[in-house]
Amino acid sequence: MRAHRIGIVGYGKIAQDQHVPVIKGGDAFVLVAVSSTRGAGPPGLDRIFRDYRDMLAMGDLDAVAICTPPNVRHAIARDALAAGKHVMLEKPPAATLSELEDLARRASAANLTLFTTWHSQANAGVDEARRRLQGQRVRRLAITWREDVRRWHPGQTWIWEAGGFGVFDPGINGLSILTKIFPDPIFVQAATLSFPANADAPIAADLVFSTGRGEEDLRANFDWREDGPQIWDIVVETEAGQTLHLAEGGSRLSVDGREVVAQPPAEYEGLYARFGELINAGTSEVDAAPFRLVADAFMIGRRVQVEPFTE
Ligand code: NAP
Repeated sequence: MRAHRIGIVGYGKIAQDQHVPVIKGGDAFVLVAVSSTRGAGPPGLDRIFRDYRDMLAMGDLDAVAICTPPNVRHAIARDALAAGKHVMLEKPPAATLSELEDLARRASAANLTLFTTWHSQANAGVDEARRRLQGQRVRRLAITWREDVRRWHPGQTWIWEAGGFGVFDPGINGLSILTKIFPDPIFVQAATLSFPANADAPIAADLVFSTGRGEEDLRANFDWREDGPQIWDIVVETEAGQTLHLAEGGSRLSVDGREVVAQPPAEYEGLYARFGELINAGTSEVDAAPFRLVADAFMIGRRVQVEPFTE
């Protein structure tokens, strides 16, 4: 089967760090164009558009990967589907659940592939944790996602705006692992969101979850003020007494202290392989579960004000 001809919308950090090298390193896709409001793009690529609509007008473009901030994704994805292109969405897939529902409906009506990517789910430890938790009951969950926003998001102002998601921008990665591995439906029962006095998005969030069964202790702590070791950890204790520890964002898994998976991350290789499979199969993969937990946290969360953020 011939490689799918893909264009990237938004030539920022993730497009440059992952999308471009992974597309170039694989054979399922060939990068034929980039649209960048700054007119930027990878060396050697001659089709760079400032307006994404001009890129969508290319007759020989099959698909797009939308790597912009989430607040503009819906309009771009809608236009891409209207132009007959398959669509890969960076996470979070849209600004709101309603926008995502609309995109799913449009993709289905047009017989095009829509793929909501959750890159952390593509780690080998995550699949193994899911397998081991099937049919189990969880009595304790601790998600700890603590990183230094100055180190990972320098100069990104959109993350502090309403609709920029703040600390949920990385936190949703932990939630995407949770929704993939957890053996029961899980709900946000309470949340405390810490907003810097000068921002419209939280710098920290503490979540308490419930399955409705009671007697469990299920929590997440997301914090962007960590200047010590960076932590992307999930610990799960089952009622049968087993402890699973997913470390480094899901790339390492230990069970009762013994490491059972330790693979270097190959998240975007997995995402592009899956996108190719979905296009070839003529189907979509739209998973709103992690996004819904974030929406619920914003809906029922208590808000506290903390000191202003300075870069
Ligand atoms: P970024 O460095 O700020 O890049 C986003 C790019 O989108 C900008 O460079 C800009 O590219 C384009 N853009 C910005 N505002 C736009 C607008 N209003 N309309 C159209 N295009 C606009 O951000 P990023 O870190 O790459 O993150 C982008 C998305 O990827 C986010 O949803 C994030 O959660 C996700 N993500 C990021 C990482 C990471 O490590 N950074 C990892 C996984 C997923 P041009 O100037 O070229 O137009």
